[in-house]
Amino acid sequence: MDLDYAQISADAKTALDAILNRTDPLKPKDRMAIPAQPMPAQPASERVKNMEEVALGYTPEQAQVEAERCLQCKNAPCIKGCPVAIDIPGFVKAIAETEFGKAVDTIKQSSLLPAICGRVCPQEVQCQVECTVGKVLKDVEASVSIGRLERFVADYEREHGAIETPAVKPETGKKVAVIGSGPASITVAADVRREGHAVTMFEAFHKPGGVMMYGIPEFRLPKAIVQQEISTLRDMGIDIRTNFVVGRTRRLTDLLEEDGFDAAFVGTGAGLPKFMNIPGENLVGVYSANEYLTRVNLMRAFDSENADTPVLPSKCTVVLGGGNVAMDAARCAVRMGAEEVHLVYRRTEKEMPARNEEIEHAKEEGVQFHLLENAIAATGDEYGRVDTLTCLRYELGEPDASGRRRPVPIEGSEFNMAVDCVIVAIGNDSNPLIKQTTPEIETNRWGNIVVDDNGKTTLDCVYAGGDIVLGAATVILAMGEGRRAAASINAQLA
Ligand code: FAD
Ligand code: SF4
Ligand code: SF4
Repeated sequence: MDLDYAQISADAKTALDAILNRTDPLKPKDRMAIPAQPMPAQPASERVKNMEEVALGYTPEQAQVEAERCLQCKNAPCIKGCPVAIDIPGFVKAIAETEFGKAVDTIKQSSLLPAICGRVCPQEVQCQVECTVGKVLKDVEASVSIGRLERFVADYEREHGAIETPAVKPETGKKVAVIGSGPASITVAADVRREGHAVTMFEAFHKPGGVMMYGIPEFRLPKAIVQQEISTLRDMGIDIRTNFVVGRTRRLTDLLEEDGFDAAFVGTGAGLPKFMNIPGENLVGVYSANEYLTRVNLMRAFDSENADTPVLPSKCTVVLGGGNVAMDAARCAVRMGAEEVHLVYRRTEKEMPARNEEIEHAKEEGVQFHLLENAIAATGDEYGRVDTLTCLRYELGEPDASGRRRPVPIEGSEFNMAVDCVIVAIGNDSNPLIKQTTPEIETNRWGNIVVDDNGKTTLDCVYAGGDIVLGAATVILAMGEGRRAAASINAQLA
C-alpha cells in the first residue's frame, strides 16, 4: 500500500509532541499503545521506472517515536535474536533521547555495517521476532522496528559527515591475506587491521563488496553505501586487489608459502548457481539469477547507454523460484522494462522462503505469481533464443524432510508459456575454486569449507567464514563468522 510521506511525517510530529508534553512518565501500556511507525517508500507506480531505493528511511521524529515504543526489557530478548548481539535497548534508548551519535557508536561496538544490516537483515526472524512488544501484541510486525532504527542512525551519521576511520595500532610486521570482499571478509579485514597487521584483500570481480555489490539490487541497497564501507577499509590502510582470482592468479598456498602471508581468511561465498537441469536451459535468454543480477547491478545494465554487458530487452520474463533472490530478479526485470514478469513457484505462497516484505513489494510492482507450477522444459527459435517454457501444475502432498508439504506433479497438466527471457533463481552452492586448487582444505558434501569453533580450517594458518562455510546465509551471519575468525587470527599473530 502506498503511504503519503507528508502525512507520515505530520503524524509522527503529532505523536512526538504528545509524548514530550506528558507530565508523567510513559508506562509500558502507554508505550505499547504508540502505533508502529510505517516506513515511507516510493510509490509502486514510480519506483518501477527507476532503480532508486524503495524504502526512504525514517524522519528523526519517526525514529524518536518508534524508539519510545521500546520497553527497555531487563532481560532484552531481542539481543538473543541478533547474531552479533547488538545492545539493542541501549541504542534504542539513545535514539529516544536524540543522542543519535551515541546510538550508532553503541551499534558499532558489535556490528561494522549498520547502514547495510539495517536495510537487509531479515529482522522479522532475528532480533524483532524476539521483541516483547511483538509477543504481547501477538504480531511480529508490531515489534519495535529495530532494523529501521539501526538504518536511521547509520544514515544520520553518514549524512552528517561524522564517520570516523577506526584507529589502527602500530604496525606489527605481520601480513594477512583476505580472499573475497563480501561482509565476512570486510569484517575480518577491519578487525585484523585494527591490531596493526598488514591486510591485503583479493577480489575476483573488478569491484569489491561481494553479493552486496553484485547481487542485492540498488533499489534495496544503494551501492554508494557499500562503497563507503570499502573506502573506510582503504582509509585504514588495507590494500584491495581486484580482478585477482585466488586459485587462478595465485593459489592459496602460494600466498602463504611464497608471498610471505602469515595467515589467510577465505570468504569466497556461495556464488555457484544451481540449475533446473531441464532441456533448453542453455538457450539464449535463459540466465541464472546470479548472472542476471550481476549484469544489472554490478555491470549497471539498467544504464543502457553506457553498459558494456546489457541484458536482452524482454517482453515476457519468467523467474523460476520463490526465495529472496527470485524476488530480486523479478523486481529487476520489471525495472529493466519487461512488459510482463511472471514468477513460477512449485509450492504455495505459505512455503515461499522469501521475506513477506519482498513478496508484497513484488506484487505491488506487478509481478504475476504462478503458484503450484514449475518449468519442465524450454524450447527456442531457429536462432537458439528461448521462446517457450513448458510447465507442469502441482498439488501439495505430505511434508518432506524440510517440514514443508511436498509438491506433487499433476499428471497431464502440462501447458506452454510464450517467453523471451527465463531467470533461474533456485539457489546457489559454494564457490568451488579454492576447494579444487587446495585439496588440503576439508570440505563437506555440499562443498562448504569445514572449520572448527575458532573458524580455522584443516590447513595451518587458514581460516574461513561466511557463505563458503554456512552455505547461502545472510549478511549479518557472514559478519558474525568474520568476527570470530578475525579474533582467532589476531590470537595466532599476537
Ligand atoms: P559474498 O558476499 O558472496 O562475497 C564473496 C566474494 O568472494 C565475492 O565478491 C566473490 O567474487 C569473491 N570470490 C569468490 N571466489 C574468489 C576467489 N577464488 N578469489 C577471489 N575472490 C573470490 N542476505 C541478507 O542478509 N539480506 C538480504 O536481503 C540478502 N539478499 C540477497 C540477495 C541476493 C540476490 C543474494 C545472492 C544473496 C542475498 N543475501 C542476503 C545473502 C548475503 O548476501 C550473503 O549471505 C552474504 O553476502 C555472504 O557474505 P560472504 O562474505 O560470505 O560472501
Ligand atoms: Fe537486528 Fe540485524 Fe541489527 Fe542484529 S544486525 S539488531 S539482527 S537488524
Ligand atoms: Fe525493546 Fe523489544 Fe528489546 Fe524489549 S525486546 S528491549 S521492547 S526492543
